[in-house]
Amino acid sequence: MKTRLSTWALLTATRLSLALGLESAAAAGLRAGLAQVDITPSQPVTLAGYASRKDVSQGVHDPLAARAIAFEERGRRLVLVSADNLGWYNGVAEPLRRALIEGCGLEPAELFLCATHTHSAPTLTLDAAQGHSHNVAYTQELQRKLVAAVRAALDGLAPVQLGVGVGSSPVGVNRREVVRDAAGQTRVVLGRNPSVLTDREVQVLKLSRPADAELVGAVYAYATHSTALGPRNYLISGDVHGLAEQFVERYFGRGMIAAGFAGASGDLDPWFRVLPGFNTTNGWLPEPVLLGTMLGEEVAHVLDGIRTEAGSGPVSARFKVLELPGKPRGVAGSSARSEPAPFTLSAGRVGELALVGLGGEVFNEIGAAIKAASPFPHTFILTHCNGADGYVPTRASYASGGYEVTSSPFAPGADEQLAAAAIELLRELRQENASGAAQAPRTDRGTDPKPAGQAAVLPEAIQPAR
Ligand SMILES: [Zn+2]
Repeated sequence: MKTRLSTWALLTATRLSLALGLESAAAAGLRAGLAQVDITPSQPVTLAGYASRKDVSQGVHDPLAARAIAFEERGRRLVLVSADNLGWYNGVAEPLRRALIEGCGLEPAELFLCATHTHSAPTLTLDAAQGHSHNVAYTQELQRKLVAAVRAALDGLAPVQLGVGVGSSPVGVNRREVVRDAAGQTRVVLGRNPSVLTDREVQVLKLSRPADAELVGAVYAYATHSTALGPRNYLISGDVHGLAEQFVERYFGRGMIAAGFAGASGDLDPWFRVLPGFNTTNGWLPEPVLLGTMLGEEVAHVLDGIRTEAGSGPVSARFKVLELPGKPRGVAGSSARSEPAPFTLSAGRVGELALVGLGGEVFNEIGAAIKAASPFPHTFILTHCNGADGYVPTRASYASGGYEVTSSPFAPGADEQLAAAAIELLRELRQENASGAAQAPRTDRGTDPKPAGQAAVLPEAIQPAR
């Protein structure tokens, strides 16, 4: 199998494998492994995210990467994958997930396959009748690279210290701008509406090695679309999130891996979009570089302030496909009856950190509601995760319409059902540990199970920095 894991990933995997050999006797604690693979296309491809863009890409502004972070405790795993791509559209979620689950020996619930939602990455498709041949080849190679990266992360499992910190960033802003036409009628367009308060939290997880406190990785979640480049750009780029990841990795160096995740950003765009184009002449600072740097700076700032604790606590995950109230795509109103529409929901925990993976584009308010009601001290919201099920607007937004409401396959009330289902899974995960019984360690991976009858201990593995 041809893979091109980055030097970072290979060095990291090698280093972690060495560490694993030394510390395998302590396998009962929480372990983590990290890997990164370059997924920049090697030939021109069609770009995803704007129907108006028909031509193939004209070059690379900044490289794309996929980052994998695997957690394991007593045989239970949770694998986060962050890929610099729009998402798992055109039916690719299922085959890619299957390849990863089968190729890496995972349980379906253990995989959080997420995309950063950059609108300057290849359209994914495995259908030669639908997509450009370069895109089909790219998607096939992406599948192989993702499997290699997750395997490398699992091979690199080693004891880990975790810490969580929270920052704030103004990079994302509500994009549902209200305009008035000549007749005095109002409507919602894609623009900027800073009067709507949004959840600006930058959630950051820090991973370091207990032996020497070496920083090996970070996970961050922040709610914004990666659309600063707009529909006229034909250069490959990770846009805001990809550039933030790259900034953090360059800032700390030494091969650390920073995996970024788009939070609940269905109604949020970057504050700036390129004016008038992706211009780098005459000292012009491209808007995605500015905004990605701002977001990356905040992640780095938060990371610097996090104190870490011994990594411990249970790892567990759930996966569910919900049936939410549906409506036809392409209509704003909800009067038309429609079949329920599926929505992919994942939830997991790593010690005291909870992760909610949403298989679509969820309005910011819904993510904030899930965070607020979560029984965990920290709940990261990850979107474009394990599916590409479309926009989930808030009930209130249907009255004013707009792009997200019109293109959504969901009817009013889907938001409430989704939030309730996510909170229910989080409570199950919380309860599972509290009862102990449902958390019987798996023994099918040759790990070291806890003796029967021993009470489950819930250490405060993760503390907020401030
Ligand atoms: Zn989107």
